[in-house]
Amino acid sequence: MSCGIHYLASVFMAVTPNFVCGFPGNVSNILFHNSSASSIQDIWTLWTSTENYVVVQLENGEIWEINQCSRSKREVSLDLAYEYKGNKSVFSCSDGFLYDDTKWKSTVVTQWDLVCDREWLAKLIQPTFMLGVLIGAVIFGDIADRLGRQRVIWFTSAGQFVFGIAVAFTFDYYSFVTVRFLLAMVSSGYLVVAFVYVTEFVGIKARTWASMHVHAFFAMGIMIVALVGFLVRTWWVYQIFLSIATVPFVLCCWMLPETPFWLLSEERYEDAQKVINTMARWNKVNTPCKVSELCSVQQDDPVSGRMGENDMSSTKKHNILDLFCNWQIARRTITVWLIWFTGSLGYYVFSLSSVSLGGNEYLNLFLIGLQYINYFSKYGWKIFNRCGIWPYISLHSRTVPNNCKITCCWKWKHDVPCRKCGCSFLCISEKCLDFHATWQLKKKGCACPWTAGRLAGCAENHTLFPQLPVLSEKVRFFFLCLCILEMAAPKVAVVGAGVIGLSTALCIVEACPSCSVTVLSDQFSPNTTSDVAAGMLIPHTYPGTPIHVQKQWFKETFTYLFAISNSAEASEAGIHLVSGWQIFKSTPKEELPFWSDAVLDFRPMSEAELQKFPQYRFGQAFTTLKCDCPPYLLWLEKRLKAAGVQTYNRKVSDLWELHSEYDIVVNCTGIGAHQLVGDKKLFPVRGQVLKVYAPWVKNFIRDGDGLTYIYPGIQGVTLGGTREKESWSLSPNPGTTKDIFDRCCSLEPSLREAQDIKVKVGLRPSRQSVRLQREVLSQGGVKLPVVHNYGHGAGGFSVHRGTAKEAARLVGECIAALRGSSSGAKL
Ligand code: FAD
Repeated sequence: MSCGIHYLASVFMAVTPNFVCGFPGNVSNILFHNSSASSIQDIWTLWTSTENYVVVQLENGEIWEINQCSRSKREVSLDLAYEYKGNKSVFSCSDGFLYDDTKWKSTVVTQWDLVCDREWLAKLIQPTFMLGVLIGAVIFGDIADRLGRQRVIWFTSAGQFVFGIAVAFTFDYYSFVTVRFLLAMVSSGYLVVAFVYVTEFVGIKARTWASMHVHAFFAMGIMIVALVGFLVRTWWVYQIFLSIATVPFVLCCWMLPETPFWLLSEERYEDAQKVINTMARWNKVNTPCKVSELCSVQQDDPVSGRMGENDMSSTKKHNILDLFCNWQIARRTITVWLIWFTGSLGYYVFSLSSVSLGGNEYLNLFLIGLQYINYFSKYGWKIFNRCGIWPYISLHSRTVPNNCKITCCWKWKHDVPCRKCGCSFLCISEKCLDFHATWQLKKKGCACPWTAGRLAGCAENHTLFPQLPVLSEKVRFFFLCLCILEMAAPKVAVVGAGVIGLSTALCIVEACPSCSVTVLSDQFSPNTTSDVAAGMLIPHTYPGTPIHVQKQWFKETFTYLFAISNSAEASEAGIHLVSGWQIFKSTPKEELPFWSDAVLDFRPMSEAELQKFPQYRFGQAFTTLKCDCPPYLLWLEKRLKAAGVQTYNRKVSDLWELHSEYDIVVNCTGIGAHQLVGDKKLFPVRGQVLKVYAPWVKNFIRDGDGLTYIYPGIQGVTLGGTREKESWSLSPNPGTTKDIFDRCCSLEPSLREAQDIKVKVGLRPSRQSVRLQREVLSQGGVKLPVVHNYGHGAGGFSVHRGTAKEAARLVGECIAALRGSSSGAKL
């Protein structure tokens, strides 16, 4: 509130009333067109334009024409007439100026004669204040990260009061501007830090709501300015009253505790715990959460509320260059800066121009404040809630000082609301113009001003009030830039965060770096089917897909993972090479599987090797790759985040629900597609596996029927398995567990010593063929291109990279089609 007060105080404090040059002597008569008066005060009510002049007759008989910035003496002064054709001598306003004090007894303009050749000084009052705002935001934002929010709030709120009062006692223009500059610095520091303070005290769910309402209070400050301006017409008294209005905040500030988040970032755990305990008491919670719990929440993904990588303890310091670390982030940074610019431009233009809007200045400003509150609470908060305003860089850096981000900009979860924001802003500007036109028409006596005002439209507004439309044009221009930027970046939503969804999202950003990719999923690792999988690269055959295509998918996947296995990232990604045997009780139909030349060292097993498995007559030895699934999924997520892809917890009930937010949707929902798109060809094949600790098992063993297998990974050994068609049960079956264990032990008796046995169940999303195709959804003429990539059954890991690349290619086709249709539409 106090920031709203000081930011807008100049609206009435620096207003320029009607004025003319001072008279060069005592006046006996004044003429203004056909009206005569004895005092200039009687003329002001008739004064309509700055082009006007008054004719004054002095007591010594001289007749002068008095303009705003000059005065001229008539050479012939026989009779007092308004029009005069004779000679005149022009003089400067050496006797000062006379001001219309009917509305404002005194303003800084009248106090220091900031008119005519000193008018530019008046025009500098708000820009210098705004410069202070800019510098204050940067300086105090940074200090608050170093010294804490509480101290900066104390200092800046006290500073607001002191400088606010000091402004009223400044003795000339320069001291006035200087003190206001300092006031601007502390006010903006206060605003930035108070915003961070509030957001750091509320949970993720309420953060948007709370941060929006901080700004609603700013709007209340604007309303207070209107009220005080109405009641007090002398600038310095007005300034004192406004500053006194901030006293309750100054006093309250001293009672505020430091935020737990900042305390944690400073490793002041005990202090943080005390604050949490107080919060719990206030909220009537009997068992306050422990600092350790808060730490884990803080380290969560700030938007989804989900746990992220394991390396959260890192406290890497970030700077502004991180906002341009890659194209995705840079594009968002520029977009959000443009939004800020556009929003701020419009916000201050409309607020500060309220005096010139026509009608009652005080009411105008009051209504503008009210409109902002109404807007925030009714629309803004909903829009922002949908798009999120939490600083976007925090997605990538979990303990990053918040002020650094707030000072720069906020994050938007989805890019589409940027358009909505621009549109909403335009709506406000149009509303103001309409309001203005209506007001003017009402003044002209129009019978039905509201309708007329609307019909009058922009053209009418331009003639009625030239200033605002020009600014509105600027607003439109920046909005246009925003749209161009937006158009250049197709928005792609990938639904699903299993191995298929994450790898598809990665392939899309790799193939189309300018795309804005978002992953939406109701479950992330470790809660997906992909987390249950053994992750062995041994393909499963899809009867409905040509073998050469399957082979291509497998080869691409193998090559990709092989490269990772040879890199320094192998252990983090959970990828390693593993050798072993696939054994058969009878000779298989096809001696060489289609993928035999895609794995390494494929060969028939030797007699000596087969002796290890006395019940088996034939076998194949080869080396393939294995993914430890949860680490691999986390590694994929990390890569996505580094590429600027955002991830959100969201259950999608119908793909169409995404049409207003995204240009293209990619469906990677695995078995979820059965319900999501009603695919009856998709069915679950339930699989139960055991994850055990048996580090001595180095080679894989797989029964050729695919039912029993032992797959050693980096972190443990997966023992399988089962294939229960059409079973939707996710509960482990103890009988099956024993059966799997016995079967595996008969292949590898040493497994009897295995420890730490965990049972997992997953539903393989099975189909005759992987659904990898484009589709266009359409409703009421609106189209939504969709790319499906699901139905990988028992071989999702084996072909994930190949199918993801194909899906990314299909997305590329959709983008080309969209661009084609949009240029067609423009033509
Ligand atoms: P999922 O991992 O199930 O991911 C689907 C995602 O979509 C999830 O994040 C889910 O939350 C999300 N989702 C679904 N519906 C919605 C919705 N409406 N809104 C939002 N989000 C939604 N394959 C191999 O190649 N090698 C193996 O060794 C292997 N072993 C396996 C062992 C077992 C026991 C099982 C069960 C499978 C095995 N697989 C193996 C197969 C492999 O696990 C699957 O093919 C693969 O995990 C499928 O991945 P996906 O991303 O399509 O599905």
